[in-house]
Amino acid sequence: MTATFSCLRCGRCCFVDFTAYAVSEDFNRWSTENRQDILNVIEKRHLVWAGDRMASTETGVHPYECPFLSNTGKECFCSIYETRPLICRKYQPGSSELCPQWKFEEQ
Ligand code: SF4
Ligand code: SF4
Repeated sequence: MTATFSCLRCGRCCFVDFTAYAVSEDFNRWSTENRQDILNVIEKRHLVWAGDRMASTETGVHPYECPFLSNTGKECFCSIYETRPLICRKYQPGSSELCPQWKFEEQ
């Protein structure tokens, strides 16, 4: 028997900065949509791999979460949901070990 997955909106799946994996299709869409706000944030962060994690070439800071992750105080949400990167659209809730409902199937 399989339990019904219910997203807790905890935001943990966005504690990885998926924007670092944005592809040309995403960048082209943001340009077409005139979303310079998004492009500016990503450009400013200049993320590169530094050993086993990412770091900003500007500040040396290791990002802890996606810059577009927001919360209402009670639950998290994506502030660019309507045009989020393809990798985020493909993500299946519950499919990552980051998710508290990973392997939620009843045994
Ligand atoms: S763009 Fe939105 S869905 Fe994707 S990681 Fe950031 S907050 Fe999460
Ligand atoms: S980690 Fe899982 S429960 Fe939390 S917001 Fe993401 S999909 Fe929902």
